[in-house]
Amino acid sequence: MISVEQALEKILSFADVLDEETRPILDSLGQVMAEDIKSDIDIPPLDNSAMDGYAVQSGDTVGASEESPVFLRVIDTVSAGSIPKCKVEPGTAVRIMTGAAVPEGADSVVKFEDTDEYQHKKSPDAHPVTRVGVLCEVLPGLNIRRAGESIARGNTALKKGMIIRPSEIGVLASLGRSEVTVTRRPVVAILATGDELVDINQPLPMGKIYDSNTYSAAALVQRHGGIPRILGIAMDTEDSLITKLRQGQDADMLITTGGVSAGDYDIVKDILAKEGEIYFSKVRMKPGKPLAFGSFRGISKTGQARKILHLGLPGNPVSAMVTFELFARPAILKMMGKKDFTKPVIEAILEDSIVNTDGRRIYTRVIVEKRDSQYFARLTGPQGSGILTSMSLADGLAIVPEDTSRVKNGDKIQVMMLD
Ligand code: AMP
Ligand code: MG
Repeated sequence: MISVEQALEKILSFADVLDEETRPILDSLGQVMAEDIKSDIDIPPLDNSAMDGYAVQSGDTVGASEESPVFLRVIDTVSAGSIPKCKVEPGTAVRIMTGAAVPEGADSVVKFEDTDEYQHKKSPDAHPVTRVGVLCEVLPGLNIRRAGESIARGNTALKKGMIIRPSEIGVLASLGRSEVTVTRRPVVAILATGDELVDINQPLPMGKIYDSNTYSAAALVQRHGGIPRILGIAMDTEDSLITKLRQGQDADMLITTGGVSAGDYDIVKDILAKEGEIYFSKVRMKPGKPLAFGSFRGISKTGQARKILHLGLPGNPVSAMVTFELFARPAILKMMGKKDFTKPVIEAILEDSIVNTDGRRIYTRVIVEKRDSQYFARLTGPQGSGILTSMSLADGLAIVPEDTSRVKNGDKIQVMMLD
């Protein structure tokens, strides 16, 4: 049986970074930039005011104070988006709004709060303002945002390899870019297997269960940036399985759930061996031991033979989700061009005890709480791998190493956070 690390290494060695696509910027959230973005404009385009106030010559304000204001003649008003018409000469000022271009001749902006503006506010008759009292000295450059200080024309604003977050989308918009070239998102085909399964849109006959794996897996694909393609449910027969798998043969990855353990109807491994290659089928972990990894021989849309990465996740709903987090998620991230596949891990004090009976790495569902700047973890309740509500209650997975036979109440434990 191989270790979690060996399994991940093998899977990642088969997950190739996908090709590029050009997307509307808002659709690219979470994707990886596949181009450098150079700016062909200055942002801001002109020197402009960082405050609502008066554009002045700083030299005029020497000696100004509340007791003895310097009075300047107001010759114009300029608002954001308009071009100033007047030039500031000694003894004059231009009323200016935040974002408006600084008029020629002015070298600083005195904000309203540092003038006698409040008096004008009190008496509406004083408009238009013809005279302003400056109440303090200002230095050259005060409250002026320089042209190109955010992004200078010709500079690289965003680099290939960066992950697009809301701030990158904002930068792209500020450059007037409506589209961006990124590494494509993988299409992940998802197939549930099992004669006992019923789709959620059907009534539930006696003895059957609803297929939950399809939906938890599709949600995980979506959360991590992939595009889920739901293939539905395959019966536990070769024919049904192969027919359904073929419907996903042009996807970037195939995920099946169930049919990989030791039961009479667990035929996913056989199909993989027959219709492709199988690289391993057991990992030293709990839950999730029966995890199959291989490649499925398919045909692309253009008629070419291709090998599709196939992860055969265990059928138990918790095992399927835990193995997805550990193996499918990194593969999706790698395909998207990402470099960091780690999830945040914290150290917590265990408020339960966990026994490791057979030398596998255990991932226990825990509720994490922070008290007095220390994390504490307690079990979500019964840990059966069929109890999906244990995932729903969990904040993280507490990790018991293979060589640790017991973690006692009060011991420290590593917890991989889920969100
Ligand atoms: P298997 O590995 O196919 O034997 O499945 C292990 C357990 O997981 C069985 O109890 C199945 O009924 C259950 N199971 C398998 N697939 C699903 C699914 N898609 N949704 C919910 N439970 C499932
Ligand atoms: Mg089954």
